[in-house]
Amino acid sequence: MIARRISEIPISKTMELDAKAKALIKKGEDVINLTAGEPDFPTPKPVLEAAKSFLEKGQIKYTDPRGIYELREAIAKKVGERYGKEISPDQVVVTNGAKQALFNTFMALLDPGDEVIVFSPVWVSYIPQILLAGGTVKVVETFMKNDFHPSLEEVEGLLVGKTKAVLINSPNNPTGVVYSRSFLEGLLRLSEEMHFYIVSDEVYDSLVYTDNYTSILDIAKDFERVVYINGFSKSHSMTGWRVGYLISNRELASAVSKIQSHTTSCINTVAQYAALKAIEVDNSHMVQVFKERRDLVVERLKKMGVKFVEPQGAFYLFFKVPGDDVKFCERLLEEKKVALVPGSSFLKPGFVRLSFAISTERLAEALDRIEDFLNSH
Ligand code: PMP
Repeated sequence: MIARRISEIPISKTMELDAKAKALIKKGEDVINLTAGEPDFPTPKPVLEAAKSFLEKGQIKYTDPRGIYELREAIAKKVGERYGKEISPDQVVVTNGAKQALFNTFMALLDPGDEVIVFSPVWVSYIPQILLAGGTVKVVETFMKNDFHPSLEEVEGLLVGKTKAVLINSPNNPTGVVYSRSFLEGLLRLSEEMHFYIVSDEVYDSLVYTDNYTSILDIAKDFERVVYINGFSKSHSMTGWRVGYLISNRELASAVSKIQSHTTSCINTVAQYAALKAIEVDNSHMVQVFKERRDLVVERLKKMGVKFVEPQGAFYLFFKVPGDDVKFCERLLEEKKVALVPGSSFLKPGFVRLSFAISTERLAEALDRIEDFLNSH
């Protein structure tokens, strides 16, 4: 018998749909899969070279559970310079992707019954992770009419003594919106008054198509109440390498390191050296291509009369569909062989998520098929 805390947790819907589309492709069907949560670019060459030369040395041993010192130092320096902060390598923990940084954060912070506030549409793994860590979840819904921006008043109204953290994700998956400076300032003020943490998932912060992006680190003066989450999956197209990290105060970083030492020992050593190289690698070419694709999708969907908020970051566009979103995705896949993710997977029925992490040519073809589908229903 499987433990209840596991059996009650749904499997990742995005991965389920991706698997369905991939199974059809394997059968020879001409499916265009727009469900992907990973850049379609190869890992940059210098990163591959660095990993190869490390492999050739043959010394592939356990590392410090927090990650190799050089990588933590390089992360601390890079993030510190970007946001004008003094960050010590002791505040950085390298993890098995940003996903594990988030999970370890919840494991380190939550006692049974502690609450975390999340915003819907919500990325698929946040709620399961909080529940697995023994916490409870409160969901604040965001709406297209407010550009999917959360309401600070609503957050304030939900705060109770047991609120341990508010989880934010900007640029956002699935909407692509970035949160305003004034919202982040208000949230930080509340966190200081009410003593909760802000866990800020910024994995898409280097795929931004606007010049008014604000990070929580632009505002917070230190890491007393802030946990900053990032990684190399999206910024350097390194999803399979599994390298992410968190930056927090020392107390939390050492709690996370304790969890990590007992669960994984350390992150794959070769991948850590690859990430160390990636820090030096410029990703502006990828950003430029994503921006062009974003513009293409925005222009085409606008012409189709589809309703959405223009994404300012990440590689997703979240749009309103007529009727039931799950049926919409099923029919679109059956009839036009285009795979999208239903908004219900993100607790936002009535919408679907389109990923533009696919070649521009295939994307254009997918948009033609979506247009045909919308015209014929
Ligand atoms: N946060 C968000 C919002 C994501 O979309 C993803 C990946 N889909 C992650 C975290 C996890 O990324 P990683 O590969 O670094 O674990």
